Amino acid sequence: MKEQLKLLVELQNAEADVLSLKNKKIELPRTKDFLMSEMKGQEEQFETKKEELEKLRQEHKHQEAHLTMSAEKIKKAKGRLIEVKTNKEYEATLKEIETIKESSSKIEDEIIRILDKMEQLTEIVAAEDKQVAAGKCEYENQAAQIEKDLCNIDARLEEKIRMQDSIRKKIDSTLLKKFDLIKTRRNGYAVVAAWNEVCSGCHMNIPPQMYNDLRKSDALILCPHCSRILYWEDRQIE
Ligand SMILES: [Zn+2]
Repeated sequence: MKEQLKLLVELQNAEADVLSLKNKKIELPRTKDFLMSEMKGQEEQFETKKEELEKLRQEHKHQEAHLTMSAEKIKKAKGRLIEVKTNKEYEATLKEIETIKESSSKIEDEIIRILDKMEQLTEIVAAEDKQVAAGKCEYENQAAQIEKDLCNIDARLEEKIRMQDSIRKKIDSTLLKKFDLIKTRRNGYAVVAAWNEVCSGCHMNIPPQMYNDLRKSDALILCPHCSRILYWEDRQIE
């Protein structure tokens, strides 16, 4: 029985490994997708800022053209001042020049505001350019590592399944049935160690006589509380 119990523990460990590898096979692609969406999000934000900067450049160009046009208008109006005949016309032209100058001054303020924003945004874009490139590089490294891990998992999974099957063949079929039944009832763990009169599956006390039997006899003993298969483990050696 002791030898069979040892095999059950080995089987239980192999099954736990298979389960954990299967979970990893599901989790790793999800992690990769998550990392990619984070990287894409960073890239999109960066693109938006670049577009904003381009819009500011266009707006700056537009306002500069506007300003040149106003200067042109002032020049023409000033030329007309020499030609006007009446006082009324003269005053009207002066007023016109004043109005254009006022609007030019507003355009100049707007240009200063645009240039300020452009300067700030240019700095941000330059800094983010490096960050985005570094982020992409990091994502590619992580994705490559995940792909590598996934490849290894398949090989390890195959090996563990083979191991699991070969252990199963060495175990008495009645005992194996009992093991599988307890396993489904007890969340995957059917064989547990007992030490210091305590079951490590349910942490309850095992009656002293039963604990003694477990240490000395070769019988199959189940925990009276959780019904798991018990084996004695000498933790003083560890
Ligand atoms: Zn128990």
